[in-house]
Amino acid sequence: MIVAMQGEATEDQINDVIERMVELGFNVHRTTGATQTILAGVGTPGHFEVTEFGVLAGVHEAYRISSPYKLAGRSFRPEGTQVKFANGVVVGGEQIVMMAGPCSVESREQILTSAKQVAAAGCQFLRGGAFKPRSSPYSFQGMGLEGLKLLREVSNETGLLVITEVMEISQIELMLPYIDCFQVGARNMQNFNLLRELGHVRKPVLMKRGISATIEEVLLSAEYILSGGNYELMLCERGIRTFETYTRNTMDISAIPVLKKLTHLPVLGDPSHGVGKREFVAPMALASVAAGADGLLVEMHPNPDKAMSDGAQSLYPEQLEKLMSQVRQIAPIVGRSVA
Ligand code: PEP
Ligand code: MN
Repeated sequence: MIVAMQGEATEDQINDVIERMVELGFNVHRTTGATQTILAGVGTPGHFEVTEFGVLAGVHEAYRISSPYKLAGRSFRPEGTQVKFANGVVVGGEQIVMMAGPCSVESREQILTSAKQVAAAGCQFLRGGAFKPRSSPYSFQGMGLEGLKLLREVSNETGLLVITEVMEISQIELMLPYIDCFQVGARNMQNFNLLRELGHVRKPVLMKRGISATIEEVLLSAEYILSGGNYELMLCERGIRTFETYTRNTMDISAIPVLKKLTHLPVLGDPSHGVGKREFVAPMALASVAAGADGLLVEMHPNPDKAMSDGAQSLYPEQLEKLMSQVRQIAPIVGRSVA
């Protein structure tokens, strides 16, 4: 941390700041210039709030130079994390991994047809919510346990892995036997109690970016899961809320290379929630791959016009097929391949 004192700061004020830094565990290096004193705090105190220093008497400015997340930082594992699943599927390796399926599990027929189409397109994961975080309490809330059972059944039949959303701690145990990967939704990215619990399970987690979360907040949320000992974590950009209203969210493609630089964790792109309109999903999916995404999470429905949630952004099955062939063409340009 660097604390720049005001030009007119008194010796007492400077000493008070030094004392507080030492109390926290910093080694303080003082530089007394002609017009200003600079205090450099070296060391790794467990926790401190840089803003606390910014408001101390005589302080002009205080800022952090080390990152507040340790386990999520790229330097913790410079080679990158690979999350390994059954069937030899690896996320964070050379291959781009594809996850697709409807927003929600709606019926046996709907999810079985979806699974067959997702497998035929060449994807590795079937997605589909059994517990749905809907903006309105009157909207379809998901099939719950019945939906989990259907996901497992149709995935076994088609050789796909299952990813589905967990909304609260009490669902974790219930879900374990049926799923291959937990999805933490955008609305729960800062549900710290849920994140902490997911740190204690031994099952991969894909955590989506919150609707208005900064990249640093994404990484701090990741830190909650990692610090519990669960390193099988993937992050996902799914669009953020901006002043733009034409698209449902603004797909922040730049977050993908930024996250790849800042963290060792695999990063996926979800263009479906990123734009909210089917016609823009493929371009944003391809942009995500070009930007370095390790995989895509895409909504597809056998009959999107009749979908119980997110129909407008769900691809038709033939659009998923086309997207897959386009991803196969883009991938080699960025040194990747598709299974
Ligand atoms: C979803 O994947 O269907 C979903 C609810 O996503 P998000 O949490 O990104 O809104
Ligand atoms: Mn959805």
